Amino acid sequence: MSETIEFQAEARQLLQLMIHSIYSDKDVFLRELISNASDALDKLRLSSYQDKDLDVDTSDLHIELEQSAPDAENRTLVVRDNGIGMTRDEVVELIGTIAKSGTAEMLAQMREAQEEKAEDLIGQFGIGFYSSFMVADRVEMVTRKAGSDEGVHWESSGEGTYTLEPVADAPQGTTITLHLKPEDAEDSLHDYAKPETVRRIVKRYSDFITWPIRLVTDSD
Ligand code: ADP
Ligand code: MG
Repeated sequence: MSETIEFQAEARQLLQLMIHSIYSDKDVFLRELISNASDALDKLRLSSYQDKDLDVDTSDLHIELEQSAPDAENRTLVVRDNGIGMTRDEVVELIGTIAKSGTAEMLAQMREAQEEKAEDLIGQFGIGFYSSFMVADRVEMVTRKAGSDEGVHWESSGEGTYTLEPVADAPQGTTITLHLKPEDAEDSLHDYAKPETVRRIVKRYSDFITWPIRLVTDSD
C-alpha cells in the first residue's frame, strides 16, 4: 500500500531553494550523495563488528554510479550503496524532516548566501540529500536496512509531499535514482548523464572517500 506524506515545513522551504537552485555549482549534489553512501558503508562495517548476529555480507562494500545513455528518453543517474540502509521509520525521520536545531536561521542564511557560501552551508547544515533536487525533477529511493526483510520505496518531486511503499525484494543498502532535469542536457559541462561529467566530479570530490566507487554507463 502506498502512502503520501507531507514534508515538514522547514524541509519544504529548503526543497524550494534546491528546486529553484540559486547556486552556481550544482555539481555538489554528487559530493553529498557519495558522502552519504560512504557514511552508510562505514556504519554497516561498524555494526557488523559490534553485532555478530547481524547477517550481512561485508565482503564487497562499494558505491556504484550508473548512468543512462545521455540521449535516453528518461535520463537518469543512479547512486547505489550496499551500506546500512534505512527502515521505513528512519526514512520518514531522516529524509522527511530536518531535525537539526537552527533550521530557521539556516534558511535565512541560505537565502542571503553568496553563491560560494551557499555551497559551504549545504555541507555545514547537513542538508545534503535535498541537493538532489538541484539536478533532478524527480527522485526515487529504494532502501533496505541491514538485518531487515522489508525494503521501502520513496519518491518525490520535492513539491510538498513524498510517497512511501513497501518493497519485498529490495537489495540491502540504498539506491537513489535521479531523473535528471532536461535543461541540464543543454549544458555539456553539467550534463549529468554524460560519463565525463560524472568522472570529473568524482575526481574533484572523492579524495576523502575510502570505499571503491564504480562507474557504470548504459552506453558502454
Ligand atoms: P547528513 O548527511 O548531514 O546527516 P543528509 O541530508 O545528507 O544529511 O542525510 C540525512 C540522513 O539520511 C543521513 O544522516 C542518514 O542518516 C540518512 N541517509 C542519507 N543517505 C543515506 C544512505 N545512502 N544510506 C543510509 N542512510 C542515508
Ligand atoms: Mg549527508
